[in-house]
Amino acid sequence: MKKDTKDNIRDKKGKKPSRFGLLNAISIILLLLFLISSLYSVVADRATPSTTIPISELVHDIGMGKVLSVTVRGDDLIAEYQDKTVKKSKKETDAAVTDTFSTYGLTPDKLNAVKISIEGPSGFWFWLGQLAPFLAPLIFLALVIWFLTRQVRGTGLQAFSFGQSKARITMPDDKKQRVTFKDVAGAKEAKQELAEIVDFLKNPKKFLEIGAVIPKGILLMGAPGTGKTLLARAVAGEAGVAFFAISGSEFVEMFVGVGASRVRDLFKMAKEAAPAIIFVDEIDAVGRVRGTGVGGGNDEREQTLNQILVEMDGFEPNEKVIVMAATNRPDVLDPALLRPGRFDRRVTIDLPDRNDREEILKIHSTKKPFAEDVVLRVIAERTPGFSGADLYSLMNEGAILAARENRNKISQYDLIRAIEKVMLGPERKSHLLSKKEKEITAYHEAGHALVSSVLPYADPVHKISIISRGRAAGYTLHLPLEDRKMQSKKEFLDDIAVSLGGYVVEKMMFEDVTTGPSNDLQVSTALARDMVTKYGMSDKIGAMALEGAGGRAMFGKGLEDKEYSEKVGADIDSEVSRIMSEAYKKAEEIVTHHRPALDAIARRLIDIENLERDEYESIIIAHGIQPKKKLDIEHQS
Ligand code: ADP
Ligand code: MG
Ligand code: ZN
Repeated sequence: MKKDTKDNIRDKKGKKPSRFGLLNAISIILLLLFLISSLYSVVADRATPSTTIPISELVHDIGMGKVLSVTVRGDDLIAEYQDKTVKKSKKETDAAVTDTFSTYGLTPDKLNAVKISIEGPSGFWFWLGQLAPFLAPLIFLALVIWFLTRQVRGTGLQAFSFGQSKARITMPDDKKQRVTFKDVAGAKEAKQELAEIVDFLKNPKKFLEIGAVIPKGILLMGAPGTGKTLLARAVAGEAGVAFFAISGSEFVEMFVGVGASRVRDLFKMAKEAAPAIIFVDEIDAVGRVRGTGVGGGNDEREQTLNQILVEMDGFEPNEKVIVMAATNRPDVLDPALLRPGRFDRRVTIDLPDRNDREEILKIHSTKKPFAEDVVLRVIAERTPGFSGADLYSLMNEGAILAARENRNKISQYDLIRAIEKVMLGPERKSHLLSKKEKEITAYHEAGHALVSSVLPYADPVHKISIISRGRAAGYTLHLPLEDRKMQSKKEFLDDIAVSLGGYVVEKMMFEDVTTGPSNDLQVSTALARDMVTKYGMSDKIGAMALEGAGGRAMFGKGLEDKEYSEKVGADIDSEVSRIMSEAYKKAEEIVTHHRPALDAIARRLIDIENLERDEYESIIIAHGIQPKKKLDIEHQS
């Protein structure tokens, strides 16, 4: 039974009707033509004598009395001799036989001794011979058209393979592509939730007998790169069932109505292969809140979504097909998708914490040769906010760096450089700063670092650099002591002051501002605004969330549809600007007060361009600033 369905599916996939059909048609037509022409020549040549002689010889033979009879067929003369041999000759076209013979000097009495019969050109085959040159191409064309139309009509537009689902299928016996929970590090809660689903797919009887209803739909939610796709594959791998993966955007193409028919196809195939998992990746591409679109172009998506809902409702509980979906925008999903009986099981996958990061790094370090100095724990330490996918590419970048420098082992330093590469983009050594630019950048970054070191709730500085990376001219890397799930008002205020540190220094030192800090200003203003409108961190506005969690469909509620009055709006603005100017003052005080430290850091930066944590801290200690405490782990390395 199982094998049957597999073959079915393979057939479906392997069918390329349009091209094979046409090739078939052409070869059949060619064969027919060949048969017709060869038949014609066989029949036409019947009773055709083997030897051909010139007319003069025939006349001579008649004169000698050797010839018994002459048959005229068209221009051909077929002569039967006394000795029963048959010879062939030709007369001139359009001339009568008798005329021809007499022209060659044959006397009438000699001619009378021969029986002359005239045959009209023979019926069907003659005509076919005459018409064949005209008919052949016509017949050929007609046949081609017939074949094509038959294909299109017969199989519902299959000639262009419109409706077929584009799902990628992984069969349970496919060892190479098999992923299991072992390949997914961390995500403990998610794995626990999903273990239940694995159990059901492996052993459905146990659940059905006790009357348990198994969820039809499971929604995986999490930031990009947290391993949603990986986990879905792992569920299929653990349960040993077929896995049908399709991405939300693949449902929707230029042709209207394709999405819905793809959904139908996909569910049909999965049911045939049951037990199976259907995985719709990036479901937000089709599953956004309906009816919010401006203008056309939305119908297609809605039809696809409707079809998914219809198919999910049509499931029998014993169908053993489970639909999984993944999204990083659960907030924009249509509520209909989240209703009980659809994607009612929701699994959140968080960004990995320090321990998980180390586990993920371990998974991706198999088959990579490491030097002795590598301590993955330190790398995990330095990568808060990295997703699984980021860590994967970090490992890869590290290997590339080592290979580029012709070393056969990856060292800790390679991995540390890889962190920055993944975080900030590659270094742009070619982009040389002018002397002035270098000075400004050095002071700007020194400003960030100094404010960060002095303020109690800001993060410790790990590195300062004035080598441009990506779009930034320089950067200061400060990382939190531990992974933060929550941030306090004090931390936010210090963070804003740190962001303004660069701007403040530029203004103070050069009495001018460059375009450099514009990003700093954007980030810090947005943070101040969120404090007021989202987190209730302003006493004046109080405990009110005035803006949603973000991600409302852009035109959904209309732009003008604010949820607060003009007056509250003005209050918000004044609170934001108060927070900003207080932070500005705080930063200004620090850099003025610690001016010698600022100069020392900036000068050292201009010299060596990259300032690592240890050297940086020795500079500020020399100026009487106590650096933030280090994590235990970093002392070891
Ligand atoms: P998502 O679908 O959530 O965007 P993916 O599942 O595509 O993320 O993850 C991309 C890659 O990142 C995976 O192929 C894997 O190599 C790596 N990765 C992500 N999370 C993990 C994890 N928890 N353990 C191991 N590798 C992971
Ligand atoms: Mg994915
Ligand atoms: Zn800056």
